Amino acid sequence: MIRSINPTTGQVDFEIAAHTPAEVEERLQRASEAAAWLRTLTFAERARLMNTSADVLASDREDAARMMTTEMGKPITAARAEVDKCVKTMRFYAAHAERFLADSPVDDPATVGATHAATRWQPLGVVLAVMPWNYPLWQVIRFAAPALMAGNAGVLKHASNVPRSALYLDTLFERGGFRKGAFSTLLIGSADVAAVIEDPRIAAVTLTGSEPAGRSVASIAAAHVKKSVLELGGSDPFVVLASADIDKAVPTAVLARTLNNGQSCIAGKRFIVHDAVYDEFADKFTRAIAALKIGDPLEESTELGPLSTERGRDELAELVDDAVQKGAQVLTGAERIDRPGWYYPGTVLAGITPEMRVYGEEAFGPVATLYRAVDNDDALRIANGTEFGLSSAVWTEDPAEQERFATELQAGAVFVNGMSASYPELPFGGVKHSGFGRELSASGIREFCSLKTVWQR
Ligand code: NDP
Repeated sequence: MIRSINPTTGQVDFEIAAHTPAEVEERLQRASEAAAWLRTLTFAERARLMNTSADVLASDREDAARMMTTEMGKPITAARAEVDKCVKTMRFYAAHAERFLADSPVDDPATVGATHAATRWQPLGVVLAVMPWNYPLWQVIRFAAPALMAGNAGVLKHASNVPRSALYLDTLFERGGFRKGAFSTLLIGSADVAAVIEDPRIAAVTLTGSEPAGRSVASIAAAHVKKSVLELGGSDPFVVLASADIDKAVPTAVLARTLNNGQSCIAGKRFIVHDAVYDEFADKFTRAIAALKIGDPLEESTELGPLSTERGRDELAELVDDAVQKGAQVLTGAERIDRPGWYYPGTVLAGITPEMRVYGEEAFGPVATLYRAVDNDDALRIANGTEFGLSSAVWTEDPAEQERFATELQAGAVFVNGMSASYPELPFGGVKHSGFGRELSASGIREFCSLKTVWQR
Protein backbone atom coordinates (compact mmCIF):
# COMPACT_ATOMS: atom_id res chain seq x y z
CA MET A 1 0.00 0.00 0.00
CA ILE A 2 1.09 3.57 -0.70
CA ARG A 3 0.08 5.88 2.16
CA SER A 4 -0.47 9.58 2.64
CA ILE A 5 0.22 10.31 6.31
CA ASN A 6 -0.54 13.80 7.60
CA PRO A 7 2.71 14.94 9.25
CA THR A 8 0.80 17.31 11.56
CA THR A 9 -1.18 14.47 13.15
CA GLY A 10 0.67 11.30 12.21
CA GLN A 11 -2.65 9.87 10.95
CA VAL A 12 -3.08 7.97 7.67
CA ASP A 13 -5.33 10.19 5.51
CA PHE A 14 -5.36 8.10 2.34
CA GLU A 15 -3.99 4.81 1.06
CA ILE A 16 -4.00 3.08 -2.27
CA ALA A 17 -2.60 -0.12 -3.75
CA ALA A 18 0.46 0.22 -5.98
CA HIS A 19 -0.09 -0.34 -9.68
CA THR A 20 0.14 -3.97 -10.80
CA PRO A 21 2.66 -4.92 -13.52
CA ALA A 22 -0.26 -5.04 -15.98
CA GLU A 23 -1.30 -1.49 -15.04
CA VAL A 24 2.28 -0.25 -15.44
CA GLU A 25 2.45 -1.92 -18.85
CA GLU A 26 -0.81 -0.30 -19.94
CA ARG A 27 0.42 3.15 -18.86
CA LEU A 28 3.78 2.79 -20.59
CA GLN A 29 2.04 1.76 -23.80
CA ARG A 30 -0.35 4.72 -23.60
CA ALA A 31 2.59 7.05 -22.94
CA SER A 32 4.40 5.70 -25.98
CA GLU A 33 1.37 6.27 -28.19
CA ALA A 34 0.85 9.75 -26.72
CA ALA A 35 4.50 10.64 -27.47
CA ALA A 36 3.97 9.72 -31.13
CA TRP A 37 0.91 12.02 -31.17
CA LEU A 38 2.58 14.88 -29.28
CA ARG A 39 5.46 15.20 -31.71
CA THR A 40 3.03 15.81 -34.57
CA LEU A 41 1.43 18.83 -32.86
CA THR A 42 2.53 22.36 -33.64
CA PHE A 43 3.90 24.54 -30.84
CA ALA A 44 0.71 26.59 -31.01
CA GLU A 45 -1.41 23.48 -30.46
CA ARG A 46 0.71 22.31 -27.53
CA ALA A 47 0.66 25.84 -26.08
CA ARG A 48 -3.12 25.93 -26.17
CA LEU A 49 -3.30 22.63 -24.23
CA MET A 50 -0.62 23.79 -21.78
CA ASN A 51 -2.43 27.06 -21.10
CA THR A 52 -5.70 25.20 -20.55
CA SER A 53 -3.91 22.85 -18.12
CA ALA A 54 -2.56 25.95 -16.33
CA ASP A 55 -6.14 27.28 -16.10
CA VAL A 56 -7.24 23.99 -14.53
CA LEU A 57 -4.48 24.15 -11.92
CA ALA A 58 -5.20 27.82 -11.20
CA SER A 59 -8.87 27.03 -10.60
CA ASP A 60 -7.86 24.19 -8.23
CA ARG A 61 -5.51 26.53 -6.31
CA GLU A 62 -6.96 26.24 -2.81
CA ASP A 63 -7.69 22.50 -2.96
CA ALA A 64 -4.27 21.73 -4.41
CA ALA A 65 -2.57 23.85 -1.73
CA ARG A 66 -4.48 22.11 1.09
CA MET A 67 -3.65 18.74 -0.44
CA MET A 68 0.08 19.51 -0.27
CA THR A 69 -0.11 20.95 3.24
CA THR A 70 -1.94 17.95 4.65
CA GLU A 71 0.21 15.50 2.72
CA MET A 72 3.68 16.84 3.54
CA GLY A 73 3.28 19.68 6.05
CA LYS A 74 4.35 22.84 4.22
CA PRO A 75 2.71 26.04 5.50
CA ILE A 76 -0.46 26.80 3.54
CA THR A 77 0.88 30.18 2.40
CA ALA A 78 3.90 28.43 0.86
CA ALA A 79 1.63 25.82 -0.73
CA ARG A 80 -0.44 28.51 -2.46
CA ALA A 81 2.76 30.17 -3.67
CA GLU A 82 3.88 26.81 -5.07
CA VAL A 83 0.66 26.43 -7.07
CA ASP A 84 1.09 29.96 -8.45
CA LYS A 85 4.67 29.24 -9.47
CA CYS A 86 3.57 26.08 -11.29
CA VAL A 87 0.89 27.99 -13.20
CA LYS A 88 3.40 30.69 -14.13
CA THR A 89 5.92 28.12 -15.38
CA MET A 90 3.32 26.31 -17.50
CA ARG A 91 2.40 29.61 -19.15
CA PHE A 92 6.07 30.52 -19.51
CA TYR A 93 6.84 27.39 -21.54
CA ALA A 94 3.62 27.73 -23.52
CA ALA A 95 4.82 31.20 -24.53
CA HIS A 96 8.52 30.51 -25.14
CA ALA A 97 9.01 26.85 -26.16
CA GLU A 98 8.87 27.59 -29.88
CA ARG A 99 11.57 30.24 -29.60
CA PHE A 100 13.77 28.04 -27.35
CA LEU A 101 13.57 25.17 -29.85
CA ALA A 102 13.73 27.14 -33.09
CA ASP A 103 16.04 25.93 -35.86
CA SER A 104 19.41 27.65 -35.73
CA PRO A 105 21.02 28.14 -39.18
CA VAL A 106 24.79 28.52 -39.58
CA ASP A 107 25.83 31.98 -40.76
CA ASP A 108 27.71 30.89 -43.86
CA PRO A 109 26.57 27.44 -45.14
CA ALA A 110 29.06 27.60 -48.03
CA THR A 111 31.92 26.96 -45.56
CA VAL A 112 30.46 23.48 -44.97
CA GLY A 113 29.66 22.96 -48.65
CA ALA A 114 25.92 23.45 -48.23
CA THR A 115 23.31 25.89 -49.44
CA HIS A 116 21.61 25.69 -46.08
CA ALA A 117 22.76 24.13 -42.78
CA ALA A 118 21.05 24.32 -39.41
CA THR A 119 20.43 22.58 -36.12
CA ARG A 120 16.98 21.37 -35.10
CA TRP A 121 15.74 20.30 -31.63
CA GLN A 122 13.53 17.21 -31.65
CA PRO A 123 11.71 15.40 -28.82
CA LEU A 124 13.16 12.17 -27.41
CA GLY A 125 9.92 10.27 -26.68
CA VAL A 126 8.76 9.16 -23.22
CA VAL A 127 10.77 10.54 -20.30
CA LEU A 128 10.58 9.03 -16.79
CA ALA A 129 10.58 11.53 -13.91
CA VAL A 130 11.50 10.24 -10.43
CA MET A 131 10.48 13.01 -8.08
CA PRO A 132 10.63 13.90 -4.36
CA TRP A 133 8.00 14.98 -1.89
CA ASN A 134 9.32 18.37 -0.78
CA TYR A 135 7.61 20.40 -3.55
CA PRO A 136 5.03 17.82 -4.64
CA LEU A 137 3.67 19.87 -7.54
CA TRP A 138 6.56 22.17 -8.42
CA GLN A 139 9.25 19.48 -8.80
CA VAL A 140 7.00 17.71 -11.28
CA ILE A 141 5.69 20.73 -13.20
CA ARG A 142 9.16 22.14 -13.78
CA PHE A 143 9.88 18.92 -15.65
CA ALA A 144 6.45 18.32 -17.21
CA ALA A 145 5.82 21.78 -18.66
CA PRO A 146 8.97 21.91 -20.82
CA ALA A 147 8.83 18.17 -21.60
CA LEU A 148 5.31 18.33 -23.03
CA MET A 149 5.95 21.61 -24.84
CA ALA A 150 8.97 19.97 -26.52
CA GLY A 151 6.73 17.14 -27.71
CA ASN A 152 7.80 14.49 -25.20
CA ALA A 153 5.43 12.42 -23.05
CA GLY A 154 6.14 11.99 -19.34
CA VAL A 155 5.65 9.23 -16.79
CA LEU A 156 5.99 10.13 -13.14
CA LYS A 157 7.25 7.99 -10.30
CA HIS A 158 6.50 10.25 -7.37
CA ALA A 159 7.78 9.82 -3.82
CA SER A 160 5.82 7.16 -1.94
CA ASN A 161 4.64 9.55 0.79
CA VAL A 162 2.74 11.87 -1.60
CA PRO A 163 0.26 9.61 -3.48
CA ARG A 164 -2.51 12.21 -3.49
CA SER A 165 -0.26 14.70 -5.27
CA ALA A 166 0.83 11.93 -7.65
CA LEU A 167 -2.79 11.13 -8.52
CA TYR A 168 -3.68 14.80 -8.92
CA LEU A 169 -0.86 15.16 -11.47
CA ASP A 170 -1.96 11.94 -13.20
CA THR A 171 -5.04 13.66 -14.62
CA LEU A 172 -4.06 17.35 -14.65
CA PHE A 173 -2.85 17.47 -18.26
CA GLU A 174 -5.65 15.26 -19.51
CA ARG A 175 -8.11 17.72 -17.96
CA GLY A 176 -6.31 20.43 -19.91
CA GLY A 177 -6.99 18.58 -23.19
CA PHE A 178 -3.80 16.56 -23.68
CA ARG A 179 -4.34 13.03 -24.88
CA LYS A 180 -4.53 10.38 -22.13
CA GLY A 181 -1.00 9.10 -21.51
CA ALA A 182 0.75 12.34 -22.45
CA PHE A 183 1.54 12.67 -18.76
CA SER A 184 0.69 9.96 -16.24
CA THR A 185 1.65 8.57 -12.87
CA LEU A 186 3.05 5.14 -12.11
CA LEU A 187 2.20 4.21 -8.52
CA ILE A 188 5.27 2.07 -7.90
CA GLY A 189 7.95 1.75 -5.25
CA SER A 190 11.58 2.65 -5.82
CA ALA A 191 12.48 -1.04 -6.27
CA ASP A 192 10.38 -1.10 -9.44
CA VAL A 193 12.05 1.91 -11.07
CA ALA A 194 14.92 -0.06 -12.68
CA ALA A 195 12.55 -2.12 -14.83
CA VAL A 196 10.85 1.06 -16.09
CA ILE A 197 14.18 2.68 -17.01
CA GLU A 198 15.16 -0.49 -18.86
CA ASP A 199 11.90 -0.56 -20.83
CA PRO A 200 12.61 0.27 -24.50
CA ARG A 201 9.71 2.74 -24.55
CA ILE A 202 11.53 4.97 -22.03
CA ALA A 203 13.99 7.31 -23.73
CA ALA A 204 15.51 9.15 -20.76
CA VAL A 205 15.13 9.76 -17.04
CA THR A 206 15.27 12.73 -14.70
CA LEU A 207 15.56 12.44 -10.92
CA THR A 208 15.35 14.95 -8.13
CA GLY A 209 16.20 13.56 -4.72
CA SER A 210 19.02 12.12 -2.68
CA GLU A 211 22.50 11.24 -3.90
CA PRO A 212 22.09 7.44 -3.46
CA ALA A 213 18.85 7.48 -5.47
CA GLY A 214 20.56 9.55 -8.17
CA ARG A 215 23.56 7.23 -8.39
CA SER A 216 21.31 4.21 -8.78
CA VAL A 217 19.03 5.71 -11.41
CA ALA A 218 21.84 7.27 -13.46
CA SER A 219 23.89 4.08 -13.52
CA ILE A 220 20.93 2.00 -14.72
CA ALA A 221 20.20 4.61 -17.40
CA ALA A 222 23.87 4.63 -18.45
CA ALA A 223 23.91 0.85 -18.75
CA HIS A 224 21.12 1.20 -21.31
CA VAL A 225 22.73 4.24 -22.99
CA LYS A 226 19.90 6.52 -21.93
CA LYS A 227 20.30 10.10 -20.89
CA SER A 228 19.75 11.20 -17.30
CA VAL A 229 19.43 14.53 -15.54
CA LEU A 230 20.11 14.57 -11.80
CA GLU A 231 19.14 17.24 -9.30
CA LEU A 232 20.41 15.95 -5.98
CA GLY A 233 20.98 17.44 -2.58
CA GLY A 234 22.83 20.53 -1.55
CA SER A 235 24.56 21.98 1.48
CA ASP A 236 24.51 25.51 0.21
CA PRO A 237 26.77 28.17 1.70
CA PHE A 238 25.26 31.52 2.66
CA VAL A 239 28.31 33.76 2.99
CA VAL A 240 28.18 37.06 4.86
CA LEU A 241 31.22 39.31 4.39
CA ALA A 242 32.37 42.32 6.39
CA SER A 243 30.59 45.00 4.33
CA ALA A 244 27.23 43.16 4.23
CA ASP A 245 24.05 44.92 5.24
CA ILE A 246 23.36 42.70 8.26
CA ASP A 247 19.82 43.93 8.81
CA LYS A 248 18.90 42.81 5.31
CA ALA A 249 21.02 39.64 5.38
CA VAL A 250 19.49 38.29 8.60
CA PRO A 251 15.80 38.05 7.59
CA THR A 252 16.84 36.67 4.20
CA ALA A 253 19.06 34.09 5.92
CA VAL A 254 16.18 33.02 8.18
CA LEU A 255 13.87 32.57 5.19
CA ALA A 256 16.61 30.81 3.18
CA ARG A 257 17.03 28.25 5.97
CA THR A 258 13.42 27.69 7.02
CA LEU A 259 11.36 27.98 3.83
CA ASN A 260 9.34 24.79 3.27
CA ASN A 261 10.10 23.81 6.89
CA GLY A 262 13.78 23.72 5.94
CA GLN A 263 13.28 20.95 3.38
CA SER A 264 14.60 22.52 0.22
CA CYS A 265 17.60 21.42 -1.80
CA ILE A 266 18.66 25.04 -2.35
CA ALA A 267 18.12 26.17 1.24
CA GLY A 268 21.03 28.08 2.75
CA LYS A 269 22.36 25.45 5.17
CA ARG A 270 25.84 26.62 6.17
CA PHE A 271 26.11 30.25 7.27
CA ILE A 272 29.70 31.38 6.83
CA VAL A 273 30.25 34.77 8.41
CA HIS A 274 33.29 37.04 8.38
CA ASP A 275 34.83 37.54 11.80
CA ALA A 276 34.16 41.31 11.66
CA VAL A 277 30.37 40.80 11.65
CA TYR A 278 30.06 37.28 13.08
CA ASP A 279 28.88 38.19 16.57
CA GLU A 280 26.26 40.65 15.34
CA PHE A 281 24.97 38.22 12.68
CA ALA A 282 24.94 35.22 15.05
CA ASP A 283 23.01 37.13 17.68
CA LYS A 284 20.35 38.57 15.34
CA PHE A 285 20.00 35.35 13.30
CA THR A 286 19.61 33.16 16.38
CA ARG A 287 16.98 35.44 17.90
CA ALA A 288 15.02 35.48 14.64
CA ILE A 289 15.13 31.68 14.27
CA ALA A 290 14.02 31.23 17.89
CA ALA A 291 11.09 33.60 17.32
CA LEU A 292 9.58 31.65 14.38
CA LYS A 293 5.98 30.67 14.94
CA ILE A 294 5.71 26.89 15.03
CA GLY A 295 2.26 25.44 14.50
CA ASP A 296 -0.38 23.78 12.38
CA PRO A 297 0.65 24.44 8.76
CA LEU A 298 -2.98 25.03 7.81
CA GLU A 299 -2.98 28.16 9.99
CA GLU A 300 -2.15 31.27 7.99
CA SER A 301 0.32 32.62 10.54
CA THR A 302 2.43 29.44 10.90
CA GLU A 303 6.04 29.90 9.82
CA LEU A 304 7.39 26.46 10.73
CA GLY A 305 5.32 23.30 10.34
CA PRO A 306 6.24 19.64 10.85
CA LEU A 307 8.80 17.76 8.82
CA SER A 308 7.29 15.59 6.11
CA THR A 309 8.07 12.17 7.48
CA GLU A 310 8.85 10.65 10.85
CA ARG A 311 12.06 9.20 9.41
CA GLY A 312 13.12 12.63 8.11
CA ARG A 313 12.52 14.16 11.54
CA ASP A 314 14.45 11.36 13.29
CA GLU A 315 17.38 11.59 10.87
CA LEU A 316 17.61 15.35 11.40
CA ALA A 317 17.53 14.91 15.18
CA GLU A 318 20.31 12.29 14.94
CA LEU A 319 22.45 14.68 12.88
CA VAL A 320 22.04 17.40 15.51
CA ASP A 321 22.61 15.00 18.45
CA ASP A 322 25.82 13.76 16.81
CA ALA A 323 27.12 17.34 16.48
CA VAL A 324 26.20 18.22 20.06
CA GLN A 325 27.89 15.08 21.41
CA LYS A 326 31.04 16.07 19.52
CA GLY A 327 31.07 19.57 21.01
CA ALA A 328 28.85 21.80 18.85
CA GLN A 329 27.29 24.74 20.69
CA VAL A 330 23.51 24.97 20.56
CA LEU A 331 22.55 28.64 20.10
CA THR A 332 18.85 27.73 19.90
CA GLY A 333 16.66 24.65 19.36
CA ALA A 334 18.01 21.08 19.19
CA GLU A 335 15.29 19.62 21.42
CA ARG A 336 12.34 17.62 20.17
CA ILE A 337 8.98 19.32 20.50
CA ASP A 338 6.44 17.50 22.65
CA ARG A 339 3.33 17.53 20.46
CA PRO A 340 1.76 15.16 17.91
CA GLY A 341 3.29 15.19 14.45
CA TRP A 342 6.88 15.35 13.29
CA TYR A 343 7.96 18.76 14.49
CA TYR A 344 11.52 19.89 14.95
CA PRO A 345 12.42 23.38 16.17
CA GLY A 346 14.44 25.98 14.32
CA THR A 347 17.99 25.21 15.43
CA VAL A 348 21.28 27.08 15.19
CA LEU A 349 24.57 25.27 15.85
CA ALA A 350 28.03 26.83 16.09
CA GLY A 351 31.54 25.44 16.58
CA ILE A 352 31.14 22.86 13.80
CA THR A 353 34.18 20.63 13.16
CA PRO A 354 34.86 18.15 10.32
CA GLU A 355 34.32 15.15 12.67
CA MET A 356 30.65 16.05 12.97
CA ARG A 357 28.33 14.42 10.43
CA VAL A 358 26.56 17.73 9.83
CA TYR A 359 29.82 19.14 8.46
CA GLY A 360 29.56 16.96 5.33
CA GLU A 361 25.92 15.85 5.23
CA GLU A 362 22.84 17.75 4.15
CA ALA A 363 20.59 18.88 7.03
CA PHE A 364 17.12 18.49 5.52
CA GLY A 365 15.13 20.53 8.02
CA PRO A 366 15.36 23.85 9.92
CA VAL A 367 18.90 23.37 11.25
CA ALA A 368 21.49 26.05 10.49
CA THR A 369 25.20 25.69 11.08
CA LEU A 370 27.30 28.80 11.71
CA TYR A 371 30.95 29.13 10.71
CA ARG A 372 33.30 31.98 11.65
CA ALA A 373 35.62 32.87 8.74
CA VAL A 374 38.83 34.73 9.63
CA ASP A 375 38.97 36.42 6.19
CA ASN A 376 37.56 36.15 2.67
CA ASP A 377 39.94 33.34 1.65
CA ASP A 378 38.80 31.37 4.67
CA ALA A 379 35.14 32.02 3.79
CA LEU A 380 35.70 30.65 0.28
CA ARG A 381 37.61 27.64 1.61
CA ILE A 382 34.77 26.74 3.99
CA ALA A 383 32.08 27.43 1.37
CA ASN A 384 33.74 25.16 -1.20
CA GLY A 385 34.74 22.50 1.33
CA THR A 386 31.79 20.25 0.53
CA GLU A 387 31.01 17.54 -1.99
CA PHE A 388 27.80 19.36 -2.86
CA GLY A 389 27.53 22.29 -5.26
CA LEU A 390 23.92 23.16 -5.91
CA SER A 391 23.54 26.88 -5.22
CA SER A 392 25.13 29.57 -3.05
CA ALA A 393 24.67 33.10 -1.75
CA VAL A 394 27.07 35.86 -0.83
CA TRP A 395 26.36 39.13 0.94
CA THR A 396 28.74 42.03 0.40
CA GLU A 397 28.52 45.66 -0.72
CA ASP A 398 31.99 45.48 -2.30
CA PRO A 399 31.87 45.01 -6.13
CA ALA A 400 35.28 43.30 -6.24
CA GLU A 401 34.18 40.78 -3.60
CA GLN A 402 30.90 40.21 -5.45
CA GLU A 403 32.81 39.44 -8.63
CA ARG A 404 35.33 37.18 -6.91
CA PHE A 405 32.70 35.09 -5.09
CA ALA A 406 30.46 34.88 -8.16
CA THR A 407 33.39 33.31 -10.00
CA GLU A 408 34.97 31.19 -7.27
CA LEU A 409 32.01 29.69 -5.41
CA GLN A 410 31.69 26.10 -6.66
CA ALA A 411 27.97 25.85 -7.35
CA GLY A 412 25.38 25.79 -10.10
CA ALA A 413 24.26 29.29 -9.10
CA VAL A 414 25.30 32.23 -6.97
CA PHE A 415 22.93 34.84 -5.59
CA VAL A 416 24.59 38.12 -4.59
CA ASN A 417 22.77 39.95 -1.77
CA GLY A 418 19.82 37.59 -2.04
CA MET A 419 18.79 34.00 -1.44
CA SER A 420 18.79 31.05 -3.81
CA ALA A 421 15.54 30.49 -5.61
CA SER A 422 14.41 28.92 -8.87
CA TYR A 423 12.80 30.92 -11.66
CA PRO A 424 11.43 29.59 -14.96
CA GLU A 425 13.61 32.18 -16.72
CA LEU A 426 16.92 30.94 -15.20
CA PRO A 427 18.75 27.60 -15.49
CA PHE A 428 18.73 25.45 -12.36
CA GLY A 429 21.07 22.58 -11.46
CA GLY A 430 24.24 21.65 -9.66
CA VAL A 431 27.91 20.78 -9.92
CA LYS A 432 29.93 18.15 -8.03
CA HIS A 433 27.70 15.63 -6.21
CA SER A 434 24.65 17.87 -6.55
CA GLY A 435 24.12 16.43 -10.00
CA PHE A 436 24.27 17.33 -13.66
CA GLY A 437 22.06 18.74 -16.37
CA ARG A 438 19.91 21.83 -16.07
CA GLU A 439 16.23 22.41 -15.54
CA LEU A 440 14.16 25.49 -16.40
CA SER A 441 14.85 28.24 -18.98
CA ALA A 442 15.90 27.34 -22.53
CA SER A 443 18.47 24.88 -21.11
CA GLY A 444 15.79 22.86 -19.31
CA ILE A 445 13.60 22.29 -22.36
CA ARG A 446 16.62 21.30 -24.46
CA GLU A 447 17.78 18.61 -21.99
CA PHE A 448 15.18 16.20 -23.29
CA CYS A 449 15.54 16.97 -26.97
CA SER A 450 18.06 15.65 -29.44
CA LEU A 451 19.95 18.14 -31.55
CA LYS A 452 19.87 17.18 -35.21
CA THR A 453 22.18 18.68 -37.82
CA VAL A 454 20.38 19.37 -41.10
CA TRP A 455 22.71 19.90 -44.11
CA GLN A 456 21.22 20.69 -47.52
CA ARG A 457 22.48 21.40 -51.04
P1 NDP B 1 14.95 9.92 -2.03
O1 NDP B 1 16.04 10.32 -2.91
O2 NDP B 1 15.04 8.58 -1.39
O3 NDP B 1 13.56 9.98 -2.85
C1 NDP B 1 13.38 10.78 -4.00
C2 NDP B 1 12.68 9.96 -5.08
O4 NDP B 1 13.55 8.90 -5.52
C3 NDP B 1 11.42 9.25 -4.59
O5 NDP B 1 10.48 9.18 -5.62
C4 NDP B 1 11.93 7.86 -4.24
O6 NDP B 1 10.93 6.89 -4.23
C5 NDP B 1 12.93 7.63 -5.34
N1 NDP B 1 13.99 6.70 -5.05
C6 NDP B 1 14.66 6.52 -3.88
N2 NDP B 1 15.62 5.59 -4.02
C7 NDP B 1 15.55 5.16 -5.30
C8 NDP B 1 16.27 4.18 -6.04
N3 NDP B 1 17.26 3.49 -5.52
N4 NDP B 1 15.92 3.98 -7.33
C9 NDP B 1 14.93 4.69 -7.89
N5 NDP B 1 14.21 5.62 -7.24
C10 NDP B 1 14.52 5.86 -5.96
O7 NDP B 1 14.73 11.01 -0.96
P2 NDP B 1 14.14 10.84 0.52
O8 NDP B 1 12.74 11.23 0.47
O9 NDP B 1 14.42 9.52 1.13
O10 NDP B 1 14.99 11.93 1.27
C11 NDP B 1 16.31 11.60 1.69
C12 NDP B 1 17.23 12.77 1.45
O11 NDP B 1 17.25 13.12 0.07
C13 NDP B 1 16.84 14.06 2.13
O12 NDP B 1 17.23 14.07 3.46
C14 NDP B 1 17.59 15.06 1.27
O13 NDP B 1 18.92 15.08 1.67
C15 NDP B 1 17.49 14.48 -0.10
N6 NDP B 1 16.40 15.07 -0.87
C16 NDP B 1 16.70 16.05 -1.74
C17 NDP B 1 15.70 16.66 -2.44
C18 NDP B 1 15.99 17.71 -3.41
O14 NDP B 1 15.11 18.53 -3.69
N7 NDP B 1 17.16 17.73 -4.01
C19 NDP B 1 14.30 16.31 -2.26
C20 NDP B 1 14.09 15.24 -1.34
C21 NDP B 1 15.13 14.65 -0.68
P3 NDP B 1 10.31 6.35 -2.83
O15 NDP B 1 9.69 7.51 -2.14
O16 NDP B 1 9.32 5.33 -3.27
O17 NDP B 1 11.46 5.77 -2.06
